Amino acid sequence: MPRAAYLDWNATAPVRPEVAAAMAEALARCGNPSSVHRFGRAARQALEAARAEVAALIGAAPGEIVFTSGGTEANQLALRGLKGRRLLVSALEHDSVRQVAPEAEPIPATPTGVVDLAALERMLAGGAAVVSLMLANNETGAIQPVADAARLAHAHGALLHCDAVQAAGKIPVAIGALGADLLSLSAHKLGGPQGVGALAVRDAVPLAARQTGGGQERGRRAGTENLPGIVGFGLACRIAAERLEEGAGVERLRDLAERRLAALAPEAPIYAREVPRLPNTLSIGMPNVPASTQVMALDLAGVMVSAGAACSSGKLRRSAVLDAMGVPPEAAESAIRISLGWSTVEADIDQLVDAWGALYVRLRARSAA
Ligand code: PLP
Repeated sequence: MPRAAYLDWNATAPVRPEVAAAMAEALARCGNPSSVHRFGRAARQALEAARAEVAALIGAAPGEIVFTSGGTEANQLALRGLKGRRLLVSALEHDSVRQVAPEAEPIPATPTGVVDLAALERMLAGGAAVVSLMLANNETGAIQPVADAARLAHAHGALLHCDAVQAAGKIPVAIGALGADLLSLSAHKLGGPQGVGALAVRDAVPLAARQTGGGQERGRRAGTENLPGIVGFGLACRIAAERLEEGAGVERLRDLAERRLAALAPEAPIYAREVPRLPNTLSIGMPNVPASTQVMALDLAGVMVSAGAACSSGKLRRSAVLDAMGVPPEAAESAIRISLGWSTVEADIDQLVDAWGALYVRLRARSAA
């Protein structure tokens, strides 16, 4: 078995060991945060401490944080919870935003991989709306002009929702500076567990609950809280905030991978290279080689990456993000996403470059024959 080189951090990041330990401890304790007795009060205290840590990562007030089952639920709560408004959704969004409502109107993107603000402004002139724009794209890493979009939205009486799932923990995120009215987070992209997330809701936003019942989360999301998960999420946010500078080392390795792959195959397109990107993400295409072939060949060599967007069925399909950027279908079908994180080392990059290079040389020799 070849050594494992995990380069699919945008799909999920490993749980930080400190987080796993804190979660195990929380699991071993009994207590419902809604109970008034001492076990309940201790659980409430742990819940509120985690809420403060999540809020601190994005500069929000603790009372603005609503815990959810992940980024998907946070996105859906935001956009379904603002009833009766026109929905303008960037064409670059994750499926959990793009598929929220059939009547959502797509905001086009530019070929560089960012949303088209001029188009957004024209669309906003059509009446009050909710705009949904992610902070960083999960496939290309392109950082979106959220603060500019929020200014435009507010000038037209619209609200702005920002999916910051891929950005949080990788770059600084400040809800106030972004001007977002609602902001989604997911624990498993930043060293916490899968199945936990949060929606930050600014105080004046009239959000309707999607789930009613016991009145948890100040009536905004009913159901007994996933306390071990939330405790892990809180700690993961604290560690992410403390170690944001790890991003510089990650970026150096990403740039190394980019340079070495581009040297092997100078004609390989690298997407969103002209705009600011997350430090950990590289979207590259091997011309005329389906992404699925690359992903499988790399997997055999121990290197784990993904093809555009992976769907839950495990099937691979062409990236809607690259489509929205106007990348021709044959090129979009050849794009893979390589994403790094805090424990990535140079040997992972060596393994990637060797395996991708070997495939490239083999297929080129075959097509020349
Ligand atoms: N938003 C973005 C940009 C994502 O990349 C993802 C996950 O890949 C999600 C939302 C969904 O988050 P979760 O897996 O926590 O539901």
